[in-house]
Amino acid sequence: MTEIQERLDELKELGLFRRMRLVSGPQGPRVVLDGKPVLLLCSNNYLGLADHPRVREAAADAAMRWGVGAGASRLVSGTMTVHRRLEESLAMFKGTESALLFGSGYLANLGVVSALGGPGTTIFSDELNHASLIDGCRLARGETFVYGHCDLDHLEWGLQQAVRDGDGRRGRARPPLIVTDSVFSMDGDVAPLEGIVELAEHYGARVVVDEAHGTGCMGPDGRGAIAEAGLEGQIDVVIGTLGKALGSYGAFAACDGEMAAYLTNTARSLIFSTAPPPPAVAGAMAALDLLFEQPRRVERLQCNAAVLRDELAREGFEVAGSTTQIIPLIVGEADVAMRVCEAALERGVFAQAIRPPTVPDGTSRLRLAVMASHTKDELREAARVLGKAALAAGWRPSAGVPIAAAQTRAPHDAADGRDAHPPANDAPPPRAGGVFDQQADSVARAA
Ligand SMILES: *Cc1c(COP(=O)(O)O)cnc(C)c1O
Repeated sequence: MTEIQERLDELKELGLFRRMRLVSGPQGPRVVLDGKPVLLLCSNNYLGLADHPRVREAAADAAMRWGVGAGASRLVSGTMTVHRRLEESLAMFKGTESALLFGSGYLANLGVVSALGGPGTTIFSDELNHASLIDGCRLARGETFVYGHCDLDHLEWGLQQAVRDGDGRRGRARPPLIVTDSVFSMDGDVAPLEGIVELAEHYGARVVVDEAHGTGCMGPDGRGAIAEAGLEGQIDVVIGTLGKALGSYGAFAACDGEMAAYLTNTARSLIFSTAPPPPAVAGAMAALDLLFEQPRRVERLQCNAAVLRDELAREGFEVAGSTTQIIPLIVGEADVAMRVCEAALERGVFAQAIRPPTVPDGTSRLRLAVMASHTKDELREAARVLGKAALAAGWRPSAGVPIAAAQTRAPHDAADGRDAHPPANDAPPPRAGGVFDQQADSVARAA
């Protein structure tokens, strides 16, 4: 037996083995999954734009006008007019001077965080940040301080250490860097952006905010969580993906002109990767136009999310931590989460179970994602089905791990599920059950 097979067997024993399911047709509110019609409750096609006729037509038309592939990196064979147009629209949408397209959100986060967080910079990263931000921290080869989830006191404590140790402070060559999701992808809660910006100003730090789940989903005209908090123009780099609410594929970094020039020269995932394909770019452009024309879609999404949260609460589920279209039902153990997922599927609702390393150990969950294209009746019915599925799987909803408790452990972010977020640079303040205890251990082991 090869060590690869051994590892696969081990994953199966742990209830962590993954396989992909086959979907027929587009990512609409209902799909045929492995041959069975189900309600889709885990797609990030939040506004229903991925399969909107105008978005499809725009992509098809772009394929005829500009071809399918972009040919090379834009630094090699040039930016196509279709790229430039979308960048201008995105900058306007996000209220920034510039926007820079990347191949995907994953690539944007890798490129931006590693470009801004090189050796000599301390990166401050929320413990529940998305894997792509975490990987950006790793690639940066600077030091990373992982602060407790949304914990401004912990973040400030870390910034004080960094400034005391000489990095940062206004005008210094290497200011600290704070990176955070705006809407957390697996929990559906929102980062304390105002507090983060205040701390950044006080300690001379830069801020990168990942609006993958905020863009198109909240704020005035769907401009995101930053706009909702009234902080437009105060974030150094805003990342957004074109793959979720904007229904396409690709991503962008919105920032000022100087930063855009810097990233163009230093973000390796931009420099060394082929530009996004014209049909995807034109599709996102059409989606953005639809968002401008029909801002009611965003209201519909939020209204649907509120309906599902209420109905789930009625079924006895704990949903208090989520304020957005992402609603986690935290089950606890991976195998139980899988059983609930399968029981819901049998009853016609597809809500994928999310397990470590995507989420911390002991917080496996069903991650529900609402779409504007769901009907309220579909959502009511889904809540009922999920209640029955939980019981059938032997899980009493009210016995779930409360969200606050779920957020005190570090995500296992590496592909092998054993490796934590990069180590902190200093001993942390005492925090019961906090991530730093574990990280102090891993630093000690490495030493
Ligand atoms: C999905 C996601 C990404 C990655 O975006 P893609 O365009 O899918 O690569 C980045 N950050 C967060 C928070 C995400 O949820």
